[in-house]
Amino acid sequence: MKPALSTIIADIVAQMGEATDRGKVADYIPELAKVDPARFAIAIATADGDLLTGGDADTGFSIQSVSKVFALTLALGKVGDQLWERVGREPSGNAFNSIVQLEREQGIPRNPFINAGAIVVSDVNLGGHQPRVAIGEMLRFVRYLSGDDTVAINEDVAASETATGYRNMALANYMRAFSNVRHPVDLVLGSYVHQCAIEMSCRQLALAGRYLMLDGRHPDGGRVVSPSRARRINALMLTCGHYDASGDFAFRVGIPGKSGVGGGILAIVPGRASIAVWSPGLNENGNSCLGTQALELLARRTGWSVFSPP
Ligand code: GLN
Repeated sequence: MKPALSTIIADIVAQMGEATDRGKVADYIPELAKVDPARFAIAIATADGDLLTGGDADTGFSIQSVSKVFALTLALGKVGDQLWERVGREPSGNAFNSIVQLEREQGIPRNPFINAGAIVVSDVNLGGHQPRVAIGEMLRFVRYLSGDDTVAINEDVAASETATGYRNMALANYMRAFSNVRHPVDLVLGSYVHQCAIEMSCRQLALAGRYLMLDGRHPDGGRVVSPSRARRINALMLTCGHYDASGDFAFRVGIPGKSGVGGGILAIVPGRASIAVWSPGLNENGNSCLGTQALELLARRTGWSVFSPP
């Protein structure tokens, strides 16, 4: 008999508690360096409507690049497939903040999940408005998805990234030179850093991801995106969600996932589960060390994979 999911979660929490190599907390955004590396959390929202949690599942953390999934969903809602004229859909094979491919590819970022791509997505989501309008829309969207109005932005994290985000300024200015960023760079980045500074717990994040396990439907019955769009977002998470470690993540875990430098990962098992894990220590690719290990363990114990029959 398969062990219950709650037993598997308890085992994972116990095993992660004993880990000696937890990776290194991101410090290029100074505010993120203050987070305790010993934290670990997991939450699983199932297609049956259950929510199971382990560890610090109610502690908020900076979702950072996990927000790129929600931003992409909003941008596709605004401009549809026209988005793909400005952003590619190929894994980059480079670091999340890399600039090297932009010159060769005329200011078109490889995919919406590397920083350059997410900055173009933020430009689309601005849509001629002030950043506070776009940020408000993003926050409302994430609150709706998670069914939780307490989700908020950590202004200290946003200010910390604004003060030190030289690489993103370079990326945005470079793409503006190709007219692929169309609003003033400071407005686009203002919107981008606030989206990254959204704080959520694993419980809230797992709930927010449910539409991607339910073929685009909110559990309340509303349609967030069409089934084909949900599948495409999942496909991009699988191929590009972990930057130059996306292949390794697909190999080890075998389900779509999107990581952030706050140490969170949102992972989707279509038709079965929306999973959030968090541990702030990162590996050399900027992905959560224990978060990845926990998902690998979970996939092994449950048999969940997009590469095998359900
Ligand atoms: N806000 C971060 C940045 O732009 C997000 C990066 C990440 O989570 N990988 O550098």
